[in-house]
Formats: sequence, structure tokens, C-alpha cells
Amino acid sequence: MSQRADPMPPCPICHRGTAGQKRLFGARRALLDMGRSGDRFACTSGLAGTHAEIYWCASCRVGYSLPPPSGWLLAEYEGVVDPSYLEEEAHRLRNADWLLSRVERYRAPGALYEVGASVGILLQAARARGWSVAGIEPSSWAVAVAHQRYSLGIRQGTIESDPGPPAPVDCVAMSDVLEHLVDPQEAVFKAAGWLAPGGILALVTVNMAALPARLLRGHWPGFMDMHLTYFTPHALRSMLRIAGLETVELRAAPRRLTAGYVGRRLRGTGGPADLAARVLTLPLVRDARLTIRSRDLMLVIGRKADPPLIQA
Ligand SMILES: [Zn+2]
Repeated sequence: MSQRADPMPPCPICHRGTAGQKRLFGARRALLDMGRSGDRFACTSGLAGTHAEIYWCASCRVGYSLPPPSGWLLAEYEGVVDPSYLEEEAHRLRNADWLLSRVERYRAPGALYEVGASVGILLQAARARGWSVAGIEPSSWAVAVAHQRYSLGIRQGTIESDPGPPAPVDCVAMSDVLEHLVDPQEAVFKAAGWLAPGGILALVTVNMAALPARLLRGHWPGFMDMHLTYFTPHALRSMLRIAGLETVELRAAPRRLTAGYVGRRLRGTGGPADLAARVLTLPLVRDARLTIRSRDLMLVIGRKADPPLIQA
């Protein structure tokens, strides 16, 4: 029989809740308001740094929070309206170009499928580089903007319910998506299943093993309500391996943004980050272009075996 222990919420990766899990940081916010907001889960939401209790699974090496009810979560993402997302369009296009240039080291442009495509900036950049593109996005507002602004036909949906591309693809991209999902391992499985042999899964997600997260502890801006799992390089390599993918690249992802955007994201987080927020939003500072290399955001590129592995 297992030793008696305080029950912990189950880890989103191994689904266990007693052995190897511990409470890492207490909540930093008011109790979750279960009402609908329309912008609480927007990409540019200022709620960074307010978060529920954070737990740690020593076996999987991930941090995690208890997810809200799934119906509520889906409604929240479907209702996202975030016009300020496009204020950083030029920088987001450059971030997308950087990601695609990394992917193209392993796979020439072919069919690309994006999960969580938002307003379609990465798909737009990919199409300009010769990829044929398709994708899904839960927010009906974002799907409409992608259609109007870039003539992209993105399907409204989530990876949990999506049937996927009609034929195997050369790349599945999920940028700033995995940390939002209730079951990230299942999502990696599903995405891997959509890849042609030799195809590439490109993930951009948070790295809680990076120095900023270790220094800022419970004040790290990566901890926020809409993030459910906080990854480490070890965890992602392991998750990709379980899904039959080899991790061919894992590196810090730079973020190209304006100073004002960073300041707005850090506002209200408390501690040293709050002081930085005040400086970055000053009138003479906020339009400055920044490239953030804080290492707490990582690009992970997984490759599906080519030819397919034959099980003994
Ligand atoms: Zn675990």
C-alpha cells in the first residue's frame, strides 16, 4: 500500500497526485471569477503574475495548476477578443519568420498545420515562404480577423476536438499553446500522428527551469491563470519521445516586442518586475524595439522518425 500523504492535484503529464508532487507556490490573485470576460485569456492580457497555486511533479519535472472546468475554459478561449494583438504585428511576423527559419533547417516548405493560429500571423509568414498552410483557432474573433486581414481560412476549434489535416503534413506548429492545454501530452501525441515521416513538430512554450523563473520564483510573469503546465527541457524531450518524436533542437526563443508591450505584461506582478513595468511604459521608452532573450521561452523541434520505426 502507498504511504499516506496529503492528496495533490494530479500532474497533467503522468496523472498521478500523491508520489513526487508538492506544492511549490501559493496563489497570487483574488479567487477566480467564473464569469466571462472576453479578454481575460487574450494573448495580451495584463494578468501575468496572477496565478493559482503552483504544484511541481518531480517525476515529470513540470509545474502545474489545477485547471478550471473544461467547459468554462473553452468558452473563455472561444470568446477571446484582442485587438491590441495586432499592435505588435511587425514583431510577431519577425518572430514567426525566425521560427520558420529554424524549422526549414530540418524540412523544406511543404504542408504546415498550425494549432492555436490566433489571427494567422505565423500562417501568413509561412505562406510567404512557400508553405501551404491551414490551421485551427478557438477564438471566433481571431478566425474572422485572419480571414479579413490575410485571406486565411482558419477553422474554429481546439486540438482536443479537431480531426486534423486531411493528409499527413510536413510541419505542425504550436506556438504559445501547449502551456494552455489540460492534457499537453495527449496534444503532442495527436500532433505527432498528423505528421508525415520525417515531419516536424515545432513548439514554443515556457521554460520554468530558466534563470528568470528560478530567480523570480512565484513572481515569474510566466506563471499566470491561463497557463496550466510549466515545462522544463527535460519534460519536453520526454513528452516528444513518448509520442515517437526525436528532439532535434531545443533552444531559447527570442521575443521581439516593444518596450511598452513588455511593460504592460509585467504591470501589477509585484516585486522587481513591477518596477521594470513602470520604466518600460514611460512615454519616451515605450516605443523602443526590444529583443528579449530571457531564455524562459523555448523553441522545441521534434522530428518524426523517417522511415517509420518498426516495433520489435
Ligand atoms: Zn507527473
